[in-house]
Amino acid sequence: MQAAVFNGKATSPGRFLSIEEVPRPQITPGHVLLRVVACGVCRTDLHIVEGDLTPLRQRLIPGHQIVGEIVEGATDLLPLGMRIGVSWMGGTDGTCLYCKRGMENLCDQPTFTGYTVDGGYAEFALARADFVYPLPDELDATHLAPLLCAGIIGFRSLRVAGVQPGDRVGLFGFGSSATLAIPILLHWGCEVYVVTRGEAHRAAANRLGATWVGKEDAKPPVELDRAVTFAPAGKVVVDALSSLRKGGVVAINAIHLDRMPALDYDRLLWGERQIRSVANMTRADARDFLTLARDLKIQPQVTVFALHEANDALMAVKEETGEGSAVIVP
Ligand SMILES: [Zn+2]
Ligand SMILES: [Zn+2]
Repeated sequence: MQAAVFNGKATSPGRFLSIEEVPRPQITPGHVLLRVVACGVCRTDLHIVEGDLTPLRQRLIPGHQIVGEIVEGATDLLPLGMRIGVSWMGGTDGTCLYCKRGMENLCDQPTFTGYTVDGGYAEFALARADFVYPLPDELDATHLAPLLCAGIIGFRSLRVAGVQPGDRVGLFGFGSSATLAIPILLHWGCEVYVVTRGEAHRAAANRLGATWVGKEDAKPPVELDRAVTFAPAGKVVVDALSSLRKGGVVAINAIHLDRMPALDYDRLLWGERQIRSVANMTRADARDFLTLARDLKIQPQVTVFALHEANDALMAVKEETGEGSAVIVP
């Protein structure tokens, strides 16, 4: 099969992946083999190839927002040809303290799709049968792909932030996750305040129904109950904290963050303001979000790339060019 392979370092600036003929994955017990129909490109993929996340393998096929059709390993529940989704959480041990306490996102022995095992920048991909999700029929594969990480983890961020109906919620930094979170917040009767440096992002936030949208150094005109930061920058966390009311919560949706500035306790944390990090996702997050996405008819904007354009797709995410989420279609 054809695959976009990361061999440990960029071959030239912005060229991280090489398009190669590689063996098709072998089916193993408890897994399904998928023909990849579409695979979303996530900022985490960029963190992996740029070395912000510890390299774990010499050779890796990235990609963890996979929409595929089952071609091998079918069961009664997962019949041949069924369209399913695969996300970042590719498996857990099921036995550690965290798995036993319903916090499988924090599992001690996790499998991460497109990081600890090969992912979906390829014509075929292998996935653990108990970590795949049936997908709503209403959307096509390219529009479903960004829901599988950006959507699910954006949704988890709202949960981690403890968002209540009617809350004033700030979104700091704007990308796929924030775009997909706005319809949910509006559905919950929340007011949405967006702070982002990109002019196109501000326009998109306005279009999606944000109450207020400001540039990166602007401060929301009201005190916020909750905030989620999406930019991989510590400064943004400080901006979000300084916009909170007493008792407010900031959830950091970033697998990697540049240096966190020193926090002024009296000004930023006193008054029971809290910072929480968002790590990975649970299967319940995925199922609940996908149900909500179907009911609310959430439809991300996408830019489609062919498999041989995988490097361009990564650069589109890095440079925040292109409309909406980047999606690779093999
Ligand atoms: Zn575990
Ligand atoms: Zn992701």
